[in-house]
Amino acid sequence: MLRPLVILVAVAIAAVPAPSAAAQQPRRTPPPRRRPPPVAAQRIPTPRSVLGFEPGDDRKLADWPTLVRYYQALAAASDRMRYRELGHSTLGAPLIALVISSPQNLRALDRYRALNARLADPRGFKTARETDEVLRDGKAIVLVTSGIHSTEVGGHLTPALLAYRLASDTSLATRTILDNVILWLVPSLNPDGVSIVTRWYNRTVGTAAEGTDPPELYHHYIGHDNNRDWYAFTQVETQLVVDSIHNVWHPQIVHDIHQQDTDGSRLFLPPYLDPIEPNVDPLLVDGVNALGTAMAWALAGQGKTGIVIDAVYDAWTPARAYQHYHGGVRILSEAASANLASPIDLPADQLATRGRGFNPRERSWNFTNPWPGGRWTLRDIVTYQTDGAYALLENAARYRDRWLANFLTVEGRAVRGWKGWPYAYVLPRQHQDSVGLATLLGILHRGQVEIRTALHPVALGGQRFPAGSYVVVLRQPYAGFAKTLLEPQRYPDLRLYPGGPPLPPYDVTAHTLPLLMGVTAVAARDSLRIALSAPVEPPAASPGSPGWAGPEAPRIGLYRSYVAPLDEGWTRWVFDTWKVPYVPVVDSVVRAGKLKDQFDVIVLPDQSPHELFDGLPREYPAPYTGGLGQEGVEGLPASPSSTCSSLCATCLREWPTTSSTPQGRSSGSSWTRPTRSRAVCPLSPSPGTKAVPRSRCSIRVPRASWGATRPMRTRCCSQAGRCIPSEWQAGGR
Ligand SMILES: [Zn+2]
Repeated sequence: MLRPLVILVAVAIAAVPAPSAAAQQPRRTPPPRRRPPPVAAQRIPTPRSVLGFEPGDDRKLADWPTLVRYYQALAAASDRMRYRELGHSTLGAPLIALVISSPQNLRALDRYRALNARLADPRGFKTARETDEVLRDGKAIVLVTSGIHSTEVGGHLTPALLAYRLASDTSLATRTILDNVILWLVPSLNPDGVSIVTRWYNRTVGTAAEGTDPPELYHHYIGHDNNRDWYAFTQVETQLVVDSIHNVWHPQIVHDIHQQDTDGSRLFLPPYLDPIEPNVDPLLVDGVNALGTAMAWALAGQGKTGIVIDAVYDAWTPARAYQHYHGGVRILSEAASANLASPIDLPADQLATRGRGFNPRERSWNFTNPWPGGRWTLRDIVTYQTDGAYALLENAARYRDRWLANFLTVEGRAVRGWKGWPYAYVLPRQHQDSVGLATLLGILHRGQVEIRTALHPVALGGQRFPAGSYVVVLRQPYAGFAKTLLEPQRYPDLRLYPGGPPLPPYDVTAHTLPLLMGVTAVAARDSLRIALSAPVEPPAASPGSPGWAGPEAPRIGLYRSYVAPLDEGWTRWVFDTWKVPYVPVVDSVVRAGKLKDQFDVIVLPDQSPHELFDGLPREYPAPYTGGLGQEGVEGLPASPSSTCSSLCATCLREWPTTSSTPQGRSSGSSWTRPTRSRAVCPLSPSPGTKAVPRSRCSIRVPRASWGATRPMRTRCCSQAGRCIPSEWQAGGR
């Protein structure tokens, strides 16, 4: 690829007369000619040439196969990028990446990977000179990921614009990026969702349902939760990106491109709000703060308004931030959404003031130049996102040496161990839930934590653990990942004002794997003073439950609402993973009745009564509207003599029939709908269950969901027939 390009450039230069010769020979001014585009740009396919439109055009989205064709064409034409297929998504689509750098760097990728791996684990350095050489020769490794939340549709298209710019631009800034940075660009972390949302959008554009969310989860199993999977690693997309990019290339910078609600800032960039999870190295927090602010500064210099930093989003959960425990910074960006690909008009006085840390109608230190309101389009979104990612890459290139040095510092501290941290965690093999233990160890192993075994018995805090117990020493490159997942969390007591109510956390507040998995893990404050094995592979956690197979298995129906709650997907994932047979049950099946002939058990996912009863609004096409409705409620058997069978029907019959606007329908919304606990409703009385007195159970429906706060009395029972009113009263999760 390189040779013809060089020849063309040489010919172009030879064709231009030397200035001195031109000065000596006065001649007629030649007729004006259109300046030809840069040589590289002539050969690089534009997004339009494959997609059929310019990314950012109103009401235009591309499905995943078309986008993949574009990236293949781009990589075939450019010597600045290579196309990689990492594997396949849940529904079988190719999960792809582009590796982008200068042609010289791409020819030596293996060398740069090896150099960076040495910085990631500095235990291999013998001399300061070796270290200096690696710091001198290494490249900044950047991972840019997009499109994990598929209704945030700018994220489908921005990677195409960014890749095209990096492939075709001949400016000094871009050449500096290519020389100093090796960029891994994952155009979509959720390829299935690109096609699900694009298909739905194209089907509904021009109808009353234009811009609505699709009536299914945009990740087959876990929908919007797919960016909360970065320590549990439950989904194949997470596993592929962790295994083939994070753990191989150890990026210093990870940029994840998202969208937020329509009516807040035009773009969020870090710093994050408190709380920052305390096991994140402070130097990484400094890096996040510096880089996010630098990006905001660059975008502001281009005249972009409405950019906020240090607002809304915290950095507490490792579920969203694998790299914070692996030496890298996480730069989240959240552009304001439009109505999927349809533009919106938003006067300034309709900007919402609910976001934490700023008011989008007022100037403040972290929101220096408010957006004046008006039309907001997909073009605005992709422009903010593309220019933001480019600013990030410029910073990575300019400060390559600092990013690498700080990366080495972070890993060096982890290897030496932090003062005040336990020396190790000991996890005995005996008397443990074997599946829980294997799952926990499997998570640590995938996170590149070294797991050893004790070669002798371990005495610890008056207890004695036999030889063979697992030991995780907190003096290793990813000790922070192990510690944060093994210790109990203490979420800080943050208040709206001194003595006032608690500040609601942005996301989940705890991630202690021993508690989640039912496993004992004991912290050892000091060295164990015994020999340990070399790192070992954890045992396999084998899914499959023979108790649910064969003719004895209950006939399970899993209710699948078109409102598409996350809990339905997670439940389906559990069933599929553990090979529990079930049949999805949609509204029309319930409304048709005769469920008892088909099923022994109906599982209703965790979903608000309003969503269950009313379903999607009438803007949606048939058959997606209406929820269970009265007809469906009647279809659910209600036998006064049975213990649990009438749970759903009873609840629904007593729910108010006045409906309110469904919640959480705005595209790009990242908050979780109000929900209640899962109910399992056997359609026949199970042996050994007892009737629960009606007076002992109630549901308190929050005002936000219903416009009513009176307790809703019903009979509630768990699978075992036990009344669980307290969980229902607890509301959200
Ligand atoms: Zn998002």
